[in-house]
Amino acid sequence: MVKKMSGLLVGLLLLSLVLGQYDKVSASSIEGIPSAYENEITYLTGKSIIKGMPDGAFHGSDEVTREQAATMVGRALDLDGEQRSTSFPDVNEGSFASGYIQSAVEEGVIKGYPDGTYKPKEIMTRGEMAYLISNAFNLKETSDVSYKDVSNKNNVYHSVNLLTTAGISEGVPGGYFKPEKTITRTEFALFVARGMNPDFKVSQEEEEPLEVIDEKVVDADFLNVRQGPGVNHEKVGKLDPGEVVSVYKREGDWVYISSGNTKGYVNSYYLIDKPTKNWKIALDPGHGGSDPGASANGLIEKNVVLDVGLKTREIVENAGIDVVMTRQSDWYPSLDGRVAIATRNDADAFVSIHANAFISSATGVETFYYAAGLSDREYASVKLASFINNRLYKEMDMSNRGVKNVGYRVVKANPLPAVLTEIGFLTNDEDSSKLKTQKYREAASRAVALGIVDYYNWKE
Ligand SMILES: [Zn+2]
Repeated sequence: MVKKMSGLLVGLLLLSLVLGQYDKVSASSIEGIPSAYENEITYLTGKSIIKGMPDGAFHGSDEVTREQAATMVGRALDLDGEQRSTSFPDVNEGSFASGYIQSAVEEGVIKGYPDGTYKPKEIMTRGEMAYLISNAFNLKETSDVSYKDVSNKNNVYHSVNLLTTAGISEGVPGGYFKPEKTITRTEFALFVARGMNPDFKVSQEEEEPLEVIDEKVVDADFLNVRQGPGVNHEKVGKLDPGEVVSVYKREGDWVYISSGNTKGYVNSYYLIDKPTKNWKIALDPGHGGSDPGASANGLIEKNVVLDVGLKTREIVENAGIDVVMTRQSDWYPSLDGRVAIATRNDADAFVSIHANAFISSATGVETFYYAAGLSDREYASVKLASFINNRLYKEMDMSNRGVKNVGYRVVKANPLPAVLTEIGFLTNDEDSSKLKTQKYREAASRAVALGIVDYYNWKE
């Protein structure tokens, strides 16, 4: 009795397996189809390429086995699926997939492992999928495709290229293909659908050489680049302050950009115009050498402002603006010597960077210019001072002491629009503790650098 019962159970199980694999099931009767891919799955179901699993559900998130993959492809190509003996010792005639596997071998669509087996129950990888799909749909065209994890020495490189060129796959976010990653039934179904019907192919829009419609400068401490136009899309890269991006298209508040090898969407709120002319700014870290400037709270002005000056240069240069440094190390150019370095190197404006000292309660940022009248140079100096100072107090989260007309020598005895900015008080506890940190030195550098970008945009 016990024996008979188990025999019956096995029989029922076999029957349901057979029905599951071969009984035609309409799309609406298959459960568990992800709605995002309903069109593709419905298309495949309509052609009887996908059939439900024995329980009537699609099981889209299950990994696809090599025999299931061969079956789906066999149906897509309308190969002879009649069960029969195969050239693989591990695929016997009784296997539901034997007919499709053998037909696919005969068509040159699949090959087994070097040891002569097919490993039908193994989970298919994305690399194997690329080989199978590119063969199945006889893909021939290649293009300039690169993935970080598929070098041209990889044995699936060619297949992956074919698949990408055909618009059947676009890899995974971040520029990877992940050839060793396993693949789900839904994913595999998508690739089959794309192979069969061009309507389902991934958009090739971004692969085509788009025209640059604008160039912009990153105005943020960092800017995430995303795969799509919104914060819900995956990050594909990160941009530095001052970095120049080429803009290709706008979608609402978002723009599709490239910078170096990074391509994707960024929020246009964090972009400012890129000056188009060839500008050259002189950056003058104050003091140096035998002149330490102010010293308080363990900080020495000449060192703080040199650090900030060099960081500022990096951001300004990122933005495509040339820089002349009056000093790049610990030495003392005279005040007139600093102006001479600037003019001799054809700089068109001058920014001197200092840190303040006074009674300990004095705090905040301020920026000086010199104007006796309203000459072009003097007016430009006022603008430059304002652009820098307006960013500086926000970036430093300090009080704004404003822009002031004071005849310091480097701003007065100077043929160029010139300013002297004070990035905080070394003598103040709070200001000095900020100026000890890289975070706030970078903030000061961003403020000065992007204030300079603002100034050149105004000039243009
Ligand atoms: Zn100083």
